[in-house]
Amino acid sequence: GKGGWKDFDERDLLLSYNALKVLEARYLLKNPDTLRYVETPQMMFRRVANFLAKVDLSYGKTEEEVRKVADRFYEVMSSLKFLPNTPTLMNSGTRLGVLSACFVLPVRDSMTTPEGEGIYDTLRAMALVHQQGGGTGFDFSELRPKGDTVASTAGVASGPISFMKIFDVSTDVVKQGGKRRGANMGIMHVWHPDVRDFIKSKTGQLKDAQLQNFNISVGMYDYFMRAVEREEDVPLINPRKTKVPGKGWDYYIVKARGYMDEEYVQEFILNELEEKGGSVWLDESAFVTVDEAMVIAEREGAVTGRVNARAVFDEIVRGAWDSGDPGIVFIDEINRRHPIYYVSKIQATNPCAEEPLLSWESCNLGSINLEKFVIEGDKPTIDWDSLAETITYAVRMLDNVIDANRYPLKQIEDATKKTRKVGLGVMGFSRLLVRLGIPYDSPDALYVSYNLAKFVYYHAFKASIELASEKGSFPAYNPQLYRDIFDTAKPFADMLEILSIKPQVSPSVRKMMERAEKLDFSELKALRVKNGLRNSTVMSIAPTGTISIIAGTSSGIEPLFALAFIRNVAVGKFMEVDPLFLEYLRKYELDDPEVVSKIAETGSVSENVFMPRTIRNIFRTAHEVGPEYHLLHQACWQQWNDSGVSKTINMRSEETPETVSKVYLSAWKLGIKGITVYRDRSKSQQVIYFGIKK
Ligand code: ADP
Repeated sequence: GKGGWKDFDERDLLLSYNALKVLEARYLLKNPDTLRYVETPQMMFRRVANFLAKVDLSYGKTEEEVRKVADRFYEVMSSLKFLPNTPTLMNSGTRLGVLSACFVLPVRDSMTTPEGEGIYDTLRAMALVHQQGGGTGFDFSELRPKGDTVASTAGVASGPISFMKIFDVSTDVVKQGGKRRGANMGIMHVWHPDVRDFIKSKTGQLKDAQLQNFNISVGMYDYFMRAVEREEDVPLINPRKTKVPGKGWDYYIVKARGYMDEEYVQEFILNELEEKGGSVWLDESAFVTVDEAMVIAEREGAVTGRVNARAVFDEIVRGAWDSGDPGIVFIDEINRRHPIYYVSKIQATNPCAEEPLLSWESCNLGSINLEKFVIEGDKPTIDWDSLAETITYAVRMLDNVIDANRYPLKQIEDATKKTRKVGLGVMGFSRLLVRLGIPYDSPDALYVSYNLAKFVYYHAFKASIELASEKGSFPAYNPQLYRDIFDTAKPFADMLEILSIKPQVSPSVRKMMERAEKLDFSELKALRVKNGLRNSTVMSIAPTGTISIIAGTSSGIEPLFALAFIRNVAVGKFMEVDPLFLEYLRKYELDDPEVVSKIAETGSVSENVFMPRTIRNIFRTAHEVGPEYHLLHQACWQQWNDSGVSKTINMRSEETPETVSKVYLSAWKLGIKGITVYRDRSKSQQVIYFGIKK
């Protein structure tokens, strides 16, 4: 290739020891007969770059142009400025053709359906996705509750949780070519009669025992959260008994009113959409309020009982405090801010909740390594031009993945190509903050979050508009109905106020973020209407569990986990001392082996009175950062983002259920789409252990 082997070797030096170990164990291709490696890391980046660039040939580009695009793709990856998600790195140009990480599959209340959406159709679909390294999410709430009747056999239904167990076992069996275990998200909406069993399905005695291949989340609604605040009763609904079985309750409460303001409903939906054929859930009966919906449901005999909303909420909180499960996904917020709400309603997300998706949709992710965009110096700052350019290539690359993908099922291919969702995210955020000298738990850091999110979103969206001029819009694009999420981004100060934090930002940080602050979205809107849009969503903040190891940086938008720790991954245990932390210790002449090994005992320094204050403030780890700052960072990245954010609200092991309760309530108020808490040591198997001494 260009520059020859010398070039390749130098780029390999950017990779850390841990990065090489992970690449060696799972990513670099081997000869299947001899089991010898047939590629180096740089050859892997080349393989991915060439494979994805080739897509442009089918859009009329010449060989020469494609080579240039491939060089740019290679450049952003090999410099570790951007990495696509694991399946793209592993499978590009190989026999396995799935390149996306996220899938949502429908589960209808039937063994099998002609559309292939019954329970056992979905089980098969799940196995095919897992086999190739994808993660799957499901909404199980269309399934009739436990003890309900089954007409065909005059028997008794075993309920959604028993079916989830089958999905769980199947996940164990299909091991993804030995490379990683499958991951699932199981969702049950809060109105389902089995919801209390669901809430407890992974806690107490069942912790570390049941549904181990699932993250579980309760599908939450605004009406329910309001009832929690007022301590009111809410009905439980048997989905089989509603007017449109399975769809019934939704059919009543989809309540366009909850998802968009009334004026909007009147003008656009009634006048325009209806004329153009409309979509299923926007027919007239959708315009009922929740109260009206309950009356109808009651009349039709679909209400099986009533529960106190607060009591159910407290059980959710208890479970999460005890074991990390269940999380919550806020169904109303997800649909309110779904840009293509007019296509259908979102019921579920992928395993880590950064991708709310329609049935059968898949999404491929990729993340920018923010740490690479700090210009070091006395007054460190951000290299905005380079960041914008990288974003542009990243979006092109992610869009090409949709065409290069080989889909395991026709339904997945159709749904994915209709909406063309891609998810550009970030990693290395907390290390960027360290390099800028800003503590994670400060209003300054939140301001950086908010404006970086805005900048990334702006340029990703712009890139997608430009791609539309070149290659066409996604087929489900409707310039009038498409909802721009920047119209509903909450102002920075408002969010901080919700948690009673003063939005005081230092002038130097304001100045640093000016470039993002000034961005004008109205121009972008005009451009979108004129030129179209290639992807119905462009952003998504992924956990970056493995690609952050390859990039040698902190994961997603999480704070540093520990300054020294043991990382447990499928291929073994790694001890790590944060190199950035070592750099700082060196500055203060504290890089003494004795000092370092002492620090490694706890993994943190914030309570070490012998450490300089700067170090103590800047190197606050995940358990030392207060839950309110975890939450606000997530909320900031959610505002300028058309999908979701994967974030764990880490807590110390001493935190009480009351803290979890506050976190879940605040998450709803902050407009967060999905929330997960994790209290240190609440599970026996942790992916990452804290500190070296156990
Ligand atoms: P990576 O760093 O490997 O690219 P992430 O940690 O960012 O992946 O996870 C992104 C998404 O990939 C997850 O939300 C999930 O949908 C999918 N995923 C992650 N781990 C697994 C796994 N073990 N099996 C299947 N899918 C997974």
